[in-house]
Amino acid sequence: MINFHFCKRCLYSTAHPLGLVLDAEGICSGCRIHEEKDRLDWSERWEKLEALVNPYRNKAGSNYDCIIPVTGAQDSYYIVYLVKERLGLNPLLVTYNKYFNTPLGIRNLANLRIRFNCDILYQNVNPISVKKITRSTLRQFGSIYWPILAGQTVFPVQTAVRYKIPLIIWGAHQGLEQVGMFSHEHEVEMTRRYRKDHDLMGYEADDLLSIFDTLKEEDIWQYRYPDDQSLNAIGVRGIYLGNYVRWDPKAQHEKMIAEYGYKTSSFNRTFDCYDYVDCFNYMGLHDLLKLYKHGYSKVTDHACREIRHGRITREQGLALVKKYEQAEIEYSDLFCQWLGVDRKGLQFILDQHRNPFYWFQVRLGAWEFCDLTMRCSDNNFFCGQNISDPVLLSYEINAALKNNFDKSAYVVVGKGYSC
Ligand SMILES: [Zn+2]
Repeated sequence: MINFHFCKRCLYSTAHPLGLVLDAEGICSGCRIHEEKDRLDWSERWEKLEALVNPYRNKAGSNYDCIIPVTGAQDSYYIVYLVKERLGLNPLLVTYNKYFNTPLGIRNLANLRIRFNCDILYQNVNPISVKKITRSTLRQFGSIYWPILAGQTVFPVQTAVRYKIPLIIWGAHQGLEQVGMFSHEHEVEMTRRYRKDHDLMGYEADDLLSIFDTLKEEDIWQYRYPDDQSLNAIGVRGIYLGNYVRWDPKAQHEKMIAEYGYKTSSFNRTFDCYDYVDCFNYMGLHDLLKLYKHGYSKVTDHACREIRHGRITREQGLALVKKYEQAEIEYSDLFCQWLGVDRKGLQFILDQHRNPFYWFQVRLGAWEFCDLTMRCSDNNFFCGQNISDPVLLSYEINAALKNNFDKSAYVVVGKGYSC
């Protein structure tokens, strides 16, 4: 951790938790793989995708052609658009209830299935087990998102086995997009290993049983990945559209806003108002824990993406990070209410997960943050530079996370909307 270096093009360093390498010119693997977006022949790659999915078309019309995991945000609209409108497949949408739902997310999800006329399957794991797991993973791993990530990545696979639908279609691969873990040309597919190592921080459902004596079989079985025999019997595979389509979330969301009524909302911890509008905590508590543990937050991911797409400079990206990174978190009172903890108790647990490499306790309850850019020795990369004012990127905000009817609580179960 002592020896870290920054990429000369974006704002990531070799301390990135997904792993990242710099080449001889000081450019990171994520930026290098991003260059493929302007080099590859995307019409040729689209034809490859068409050939890949063709055998999965159910000609008899007696089953779905594929499964698409969706939420009320992220890239769900664009993925469904590509699969249903462009590839002409008949998908079954599946969604895992994360419980931290915003009214806007419920609205976006309802609008998604209506506008694209798709069947959808919801999974609601009972809230008592979800809260027990959340309490445990928050204490031990500093994660309130473990059950969500576990559920979102396993429910589509379980559904593939149960419904005998072998093909699962995901959007972009996070490891490829952020750190260039793979080339687009590797055409990497979904694996149990990546899910465990990165999404689940090294712990599958069964591992939780041996760590926490508070959890029992009945709490975790819904998060268990199907065994190899079941997967092989159906031939389950999960592909990533980002390997076949030039992935640009900002442009894609804007197309979905204009053509399919996707709704967006502002956040106080990032400039990107398109993603994560379905969740009260992703850009709040979850983002704060990321800053505590890894010394950077989601706004750095968003800035790096925009730098790579050439819409802002590196200096403007850094200014955006400085503007948003320490912003207050919102909606933590809703989380306390949901989990049954008080604010002091929650802050005590959060503080246990501050990485001492970035955080120094100056006195009881007061912390100082020292991020990597402040102590970077790479040719004074960041030190003493004039940081320009944050630029206003043209993001379209067209709604609010909450509506007038909400009762200041999560929409724990919601299926429709009336507006
Ligand atoms: Zn880079």
